Parts: sequence; C-alpha cells; structure tokens
Amino acid sequence: MRAIGIDLGGTKISFGVVQDDGTLLAEYRLPTPDTWDEMRTLIGQAYEKFTGEYEDIVALGFGAAGLISLDGYAFYSPNVCAFDEGASLYDDLSADLDIEITIDNDNNCSAYAESRFGSAAGKNNVLVVGLGTGIGGAYILNGEVLRGAHGFAGEFGHFVVQRGGPKCACGKNGCYEALASGSALGRIAREYAEQARAANLLAMVDDISQINGTHVRVSAENGDEDALEIIDVFAKNVADGLVSLTNIFDPEVIVISGGLVEMSDLLLDPVRKYFHLESEGGSNRPLANIVMAKLGEKSGVIGAGALSLSRLV
Ligand SMILES: [Zn+2]
Repeated sequence: MRAIGIDLGGTKISFGVVQDDGTLLAEYRLPTPDTWDEMRTLIGQAYEKFTGEYEDIVALGFGAAGLISLDGYAFYSPNVCAFDEGASLYDDLSADLDIEITIDNDNNCSAYAESRFGSAAGKNNVLVVGLGTGIGGAYILNGEVLRGAHGFAGEFGHFVVQRGGPKCACGKNGCYEALASGSALGRIAREYAEQARAANLLAMVDDISQINGTHVRVSAENGDEDALEIIDVFAKNVADGLVSLTNIFDPEVIVISGGLVEMSDLLLDPVRKYFHLESEGGSNRPLANIVMAKLGEKSGVIGAGALSLSRLV
C-alpha cells in the first residue's frame, strides 16, 4: 500500500509518495502559500499527479505545524498564517478529495517516522525531541504516538524550565525552547560576543545580531575554544530538559531530530555527558541511549504518509 504524505511548515510544504515500508518514492517541495485556499489547490494538484503516476495509493496524511486536534482542526498554528484558528482541515480536504485522510501535527509525523523507520526502529519507548528554530517532539509508546486527551501532547518546547528566563516565541519566559533550541544557541553565542568572548564568531559577521547557531557549529568544527564552550553551556540546557522528560517517560531511546542534527557529536557528546551526570539515580540506573535522527527533513513527509496508512489497519 502507498500513501501521499504532506508536510507543512512555516516556509515550505513538501509532498511525497510513501510506501508502507517507509520508502519515499517521490517528493517535491513548494513555498508555503499564504492562504488555505491556495494550499487546498496545491494539495489537489499533488493528489492528481501522484494518483496518476502511482498505483495503490489508498490514503493521504497531512502534517501541519501547530496545535492540530485528533479530528483535524487547526487550533493554533502561529507559524502557518494560512490557517484560521479553528479551521477544519479534515472537513475541507475530505470535501476536495476522494481518499482516506489523516491530519496530524508535523512533529508527531516526524517522530512516528523516526520510531518506525529511522534511528529508533524496533524500539517501544521512544522520546523524540526536535531541536530546530523551536523545539517540537513526541513520545512513541508501543508504536503509537502518545496524544493526550485532545491530540496536543508532546509540546515539549513549552514546558517552563527557568521561571523568568529568556523570552520564548510563545510569549512566556523560560520555556525549554527558549533555552535549548537552535535559536537559543544563537542567543547564547550573541551574549558571549557582547562580552567580547567570541572573537572568531565576531570575525564571521558584520554585526553581533547576525551570529546564529550555524556560526557556532562551523567555528567549533575548526576547534574554536569559545564556540566549544558555548556548545557546552547549550548542551547542559538540552540535557536538563532530557533529564526531566526521562523522569516523566523513562524512554528506551532518545532521538534528537531537527536542524541541530547536523552538529552531530559536537552536540551529542556533551549532551550525553550532562544527561548522565544530572539524571536521577545517575550511574545506578539504566538510561536511554541518546542518538541523532536518521531521516532528516524527509521524516515529516514519510511520517504523514505512514501514519495515514497505519489508521487503515
Ligand atoms: Zn514557550
């Protein structure tokens, strides 16, 4: 069986054909349109194209950023301006297309793909934490996404870890996202630069405000001590959240996904170090292995398609 997978983010929308073994047979991307009507048109075009080219397409999965309910309503999608709050994505797409439709949160889709076909394949208790511009994630229990009462579980980015801490994109202060996302890495680096403690980073830009996480990674790869120290501070923030999440979920494996995957061992090594140092029970208990995601940015499309197929059986 095959499904159409669609992954909608703030800047791009990806369309693909996903086989039930997780293989992505085709994929293309477009800029995220400004209105829901335009998006419906693009989805309709993808449906016509893919069902014309591939046999056995039996479902369509659509993953979107934001608070997406189990029955397909978009309640809060600040990064996707095209949605009106409370818009029924499921009803609209069901009216347009003659196919089984599944609507879900984009992080749930990505985490599901990683737990079935990526670096946590075969594991039953999987914590996926996506570190990118923000922080998303999901918990996978026995192959199912843990959804909560309304479908909104797994918003790990917005649990408060430092009351009165740095401002978060959600408007509150001290959320995990404000301390441990890719944006937070850039903020920490800029604070170092403002204290004249990051000469090599400053040399890479015209202005301190331009320093971001990529500069830190590139500089650290070249052995810059300041950049390595910034990553160490940042890794402790990441680990603090993973320690707390481990106390709640006791995962078998923790998968780091999102844009910061490209930092590889530069990030993974100090995160593992602080995770083991700070975990309750420390060395006296078994702890989850922390690994980087394998599927990269295709995980959203693969997961959306795979989730839609899983609903059929
Ligand atoms: Zn927040």
